[in-house]
Amino acid sequence: MRRLRNVKIVATLGPASDTYDMIHALHVAGADVFRLNMSHGSHDEIREKHRIIRQIEQDTGSTIGILADLQGPKLRVGVFAQESEQLDEGDAFRLDLDNAEGDRTRVCLPHPEIFAALEPGASLLVNDGKIRLRVERCGDDYADCTVVAGGVISNRKGVNVPDVMLPLAALSDKDRADLEFVCALGVDWLALSFVQRAEDVVEARDLAKGRAAILSKIEKPSAVTHFEAILAASDGIMVARGDLGVELPVQNVPPIQKRLVRKCRTAAKPVIVATQMLESMIESPMPTRAEVSDVATAIYEGADAVMLSAESAAGSYPVEAVTTMNNVAIEVEQDPTYTQIIEASRITEGKSIADGIVSAAREIAETTDIKAICCFTQSGTTALLTARERPRVPIIAMTPLVGTARRLALSWGTNCVLTETLDRFKMAVVAAARAARSEGFAGPQDQIVVTAGVPFNVPGSTNILRVAPCDERLIFSTDPE
Ligand code: ATP
Ligand code: MG
Ligand code: MG
Repeated sequence: MRRLRNVKIVATLGPASDTYDMIHALHVAGADVFRLNMSHGSHDEIREKHRIIRQIEQDTGSTIGILADLQGPKLRVGVFAQESEQLDEGDAFRLDLDNAEGDRTRVCLPHPEIFAALEPGASLLVNDGKIRLRVERCGDDYADCTVVAGGVISNRKGVNVPDVMLPLAALSDKDRADLEFVCALGVDWLALSFVQRAEDVVEARDLAKGRAAILSKIEKPSAVTHFEAILAASDGIMVARGDLGVELPVQNVPPIQKRLVRKCRTAAKPVIVATQMLESMIESPMPTRAEVSDVATAIYEGADAVMLSAESAAGSYPVEAVTTMNNVAIEVEQDPTYTQIIEASRITEGKSIADGIVSAAREIAETTDIKAICCFTQSGTTALLTARERPRVPIIAMTPLVGTARRLALSWGTNCVLTETLDRFKMAVVAAARAARSEGFAGPQDQIVVTAGVPFNVPGSTNILRVAPCDERLIFSTDPE
């Protein structure tokens, strides 16, 4: 599915988006990657959504990324008899270990270790901080609280305890079981929640055994502190603003977002900006101006992807939310100021041969009438380096590996085309020219730049650059050999 923008859109699937028709409509409207949140929904539901996405991929001939988001050591309340309850300021509310359904006066918080660590006076924040509770009294299996800021509490909402150091392991037993389940199912990205140190990422990578790329969600102050090491250990990053804005003062989030986006681009690893991007569209077909501006800001900063959470998972206007993001992206990317900002922040230091080739490809393409940069990639690295250049012309990433293509669905500007395994560069040029024409990036009179590593099938060996005509007969007659 050809897009008229470079930034990618991630849409979370949930009860509002669990049918073939809805997921298909979201893909057509602009969703490039679908997020399956392991915190909500059974394995059967996840398996069914996964099946539908792969079916849509076949039916539309696109490559679609699937990101499975592991719950991690996130605290969540249990369920309510009425699904949700209104809590008002001044109300008493108890959290306990009783598995019975909750009501206006209590609900289960199934984490015994938390009650041991709580102290009177501590704040508990529910649902990304929308509800605030103060602990008055607590024991081994309960905490009696007063509602300080009210709101609607509902099934399995998240709870943060920012003032208290909690003894939490990076991956729970549930996470390990979920990880094995989704890796066996076949997902492209695994998102890790509440990463605190690079070791957490290494642990997940060992379990994933190469079956999925690893994305770290930055939502703890300690992850911000250890960001460099976490980035080095990860394949991608999510700026998970929901929990981050509860664990830290909200005003700290924008500068962190800017810094993290910049660092990810320098490292040529994709970064998603997530949470509350179009929050009002959960209930309204029109976003607020501030939300539109927030999506635009993430794009101006150079994020690889912007994400929808409840807007597409549980809202009333999932397709409208994706369409809004798509329209904002198209508009921003046509703005000359966007190009200026992106080009002013181009990474120039530390160049390898591969970096030199991709930057030369960009320069040749931008200073002439060349229509696209085609790169051959096995692991995806060459495509990531090309994307880091943020070229003005489209990037066509050619790969024989469907897993690589699906992972690249998250990366800025990459249009993936599957090829057969090629062993000769000339055949690669022919395949690139064909792809550029059939995907609508170039006509037979046009030229493209092709980059590749020769010999083929040796990762990280990009060492060749060729300007080629899109007309196959000319490729043969102009071939240097
Ligand atoms: P995270 O911290 O991982 O983002 P979250 O609880 O914020 O977890 P999101 O995936 O961001 O979850 O979705 C936001 C809201 O949408 C959730 O709080 C939940 O109410 C609803 N939701 C999402 N997916 C589902 C689902 N599969 N079933 C039920 N509700 C869902
Ligand atoms: Mg979160
Ligand atoms: Mg969320």
